[in-house]
This record gives sequence, C-alpha cells and structure tokens, in this order.
Amino acid sequence: MTSSGGELRTTILDAGEAPQGKRLFGLSNEQLTDTLREFSLPPYRIRQLGDALYRQRVRTLDGITTWPRDLRERVARAGFQIGMPEIVQTFRSVDGTERYLIAGDDAQTVETVWMPEGDDSPQETDFSADDDGPAEPGAWSRATICVSSQIGCAVNCQFCLTARLGIIRNLSAGEIAGQVAAVLNRHGVEPGRDRINLVFMGMGEPFLNFDPFIAAVRLLVSEMGIPESRMTVSTSGIVPGILRFAQEPVRPRLAISLNASNNPVRETVMPITRKWDIDQIIDAVRKVPLRARERVTFEYVLLGGVNDQPQHADQLVKLIRRANFPAKVNLIAWNPGPDVPFTTPCPEEVAAFQQRLREQGIPAFVRRPRGRDIYAACGQLKKTVSSEPLVEIRERA
Ligand code: SAH
Ligand code: SF4
Repeated sequence: MTSSGGELRTTILDAGEAPQGKRLFGLSNEQLTDTLREFSLPPYRIRQLGDALYRQRVRTLDGITTWPRDLRERVARAGFQIGMPEIVQTFRSVDGTERYLIAGDDAQTVETVWMPEGDDSPQETDFSADDDGPAEPGAWSRATICVSSQIGCAVNCQFCLTARLGIIRNLSAGEIAGQVAAVLNRHGVEPGRDRINLVFMGMGEPFLNFDPFIAAVRLLVSEMGIPESRMTVSTSGIVPGILRFAQEPVRPRLAISLNASNNPVRETVMPITRKWDIDQIIDAVRKVPLRARERVTFEYVLLGGVNDQPQHADQLVKLIRRANFPAKVNLIAWNPGPDVPFTTPCPEEVAAFQQRLREQGIPAFVRRPRGRDIYAACGQLKKTVSSEPLVEIRERA
C-alpha cells in the first residue's frame, strides 16, 4: 500500500474482502473492546471508534480520521469492516413519505419508512408529548422514522399485510439501529440539531425479538444521541415482553395495539388475544414505571363495522378508565391491502368515534395514513417491490 493517495487506500480498505461476521456497526463499546482485543486498544480509541460509527456514521474504516492510518490499516487487514447498512431501493410517496429496502446481514432486505412533517398538525402523527407549532410549508421541521424489528411477523393479526409473510427472521441490533443510521445519512440529519422521532412500528413484533431490540435502543440513545423520549415502541400485547420492558432503565414510550374494545372482537382480529387477553395486557402495562407526563398510547385500527361502532367507543372509555394509568388513544382508519377482508371507515365515522372518546374525557387523536400509495403505511410493509402503482427510485444499478 502506498502512503499517499486517499483513493487507493480507500479502495484497499473496502475491497470487500472482509469475511462476513467481522462487521463493527451494531456493536456496543464493550463488544467493540472484546471484538478488537487483539489490537489492545485503550478505551479512548474505542470511544473514537464508537463516535465514528454512530455519530459521524462513516462508511469505511478509512473514514475514522481520529485513528492513525496504520491502525485503520491493521484493523482492515484483519478482515474487519464498518458494515454500515445501505439503502438499496427507495419508494417515494406523493405525500413525501419514503419507504426503503435496506441491505440486511444476509440476502434479505429490511423495510424502513421516513415520514417528514411539514405543514400539518403535529398531533396527527407525532407520538411525542410536546408541540412545536406549525412548520414551514414544503420543508420538514421534524421527521419520524418507522423502524422494523423483524422480517415478517409471527403474530397473525388478520388486518395486517405483514402477517401474510409469516416470520422470516429476527433482525440483529445492528440491523435495527442501522435502519436509523442509513436514513439519517440519506437525509443529512443530525440528531442533536434536528427533530427526529423513532417509532418501532415497522415490520415485526419488537417484543418477540427483545434483546436485539433493546440493544438497538441503547445504541440509538447513548451512541447516536436520540433521546428515548422521542422513541415509541408498539406491541401487539406480548405480556412477557411488556414485563421485561418494565424493568429496562432506558426505554422508549410504550404503545399497545389494542384494536378492539373487548376480548371476543379482539380474538377475531388478533388471535394472539387467546394467549394474552386484554386484562393481562393492562396488568402488565401497569408494571411499567411511567416518567413524568408520560402516557401509554393505545393504538386502535378502525375496521369498518367490526370495532368502530358507538358501543365500541363506550367500551373503550370504560376499559381505559379501569386501567387507570395516563393513556391516550391513536385512531387510524384501516389501510387496505390486497385480499384482506376489511373495510375502511370514512373520515366522518372516524371523527365520530374520536368525538365520542373525547366527550368522555379520553384524549384521542387521528393518525393520518402516510405513504399508502407506496405500501408504506401501517400494516402495509410486505416487501412490496413490484406490480403496484408506485414511484420507485433505484439506488443501485
Ligand atoms: N407488531 C407491532 C408493531 C408493528 S405494527 C404491533 O402490532 O404493535 C404497527 C401498527 O400498525 C399496529 O398498531 C397495528 O395495529 C397497525 N396496523 C397493522 N395493520 C394495519 C393496517 N392495515 N392499517 C392500519 N394500521 C395497521
Ligand atoms: Fe405483526 Fe404488528 Fe402486523 Fe400484528 S399488526 S401481524 S403484531 S406487525
């Protein structure tokens, strides 16, 4: 290797010769120390590496400019690589939403959604507690990234397209945090400067992939600098997962996909209710120590004629009063999918349901669907790559 010519050096370091499994992105400081022990790196070198991986999000070992060149070269020669996840395909919606397929650790791709917020009301899609006020039209003042935790999903919710895939596999911590890194890189976002929210509401059930999910949260909070108060995780009600979550010192806000006001209806739309019913879920949520001003979100997908009638709203009010912890309801009209036998209530019906909750003192918000035209909206993530009317931008030839 020559000592001059950055281009040559970069080529050598990224020649793609690194064996699989020597990827550094996704490892915690302790894991980096352990993985690189043959180099006997002092703690400050590990910190510099963490900074390069997660704050600067460099793509090549050569980009770790705080390291002397010979160290970068030795680490590269030993077969290590950054392994920053890369977006391989982008679908852009007319509403500004983008859906990405991101290269995974194997041939599978991971789905992630970017939802910029510009001139619309914060309460509709923003899961956070505070309100920034109106934003500049045409620009994004804050954005939400919807992150997947698995490829496919094992929970067989009848209204959700992801369920049709079944579970393909869990994602690693690096693949979960890597979705955020890839999207931040694409949009030039700096977490300390820009308002960014994360929702773990993409493909999969986070609480059925608990350890990698929580390891990713730790990386996102302590290494990438995204406050946990700006993250929300949604679960279909996996009780053992909720109980573990309750013990976590660093954790996102919690959302429960309730989607029905009583067990019989919930069983028909979410058969997992037979394993853990509504009361068991509520009891588990009670164990989560809420922070000041924190509320638990109940997500409620309105399915025409199934769970959207006035009596369902009244039951929901009673259920939330009985739960007796700070809560709010996010209503979303069902996003249709091919061959899924439900109907979407019209906006007036959604508004009436919301009004009925509000009149009885329950904070209720309506979430506007995002990116329906590109299969990016809730419940539509299904690795859809063709045959739909979508706008596609190929990132790679
Ligand atoms: N598996 C987790 C997180 C991903 S699903 C969970 O179920 O909570 C994220 C949200 O999308 C859930 O609240 C789910 O109820 C909702 N959802 C699924 N399919 C939908 C659809 N077709 N239309 C609208 N929301 C849907
Ligand atoms: Fe899985 Fe959530 Fe879809 Fe249910 S709604 S199938 S838990 S992704």
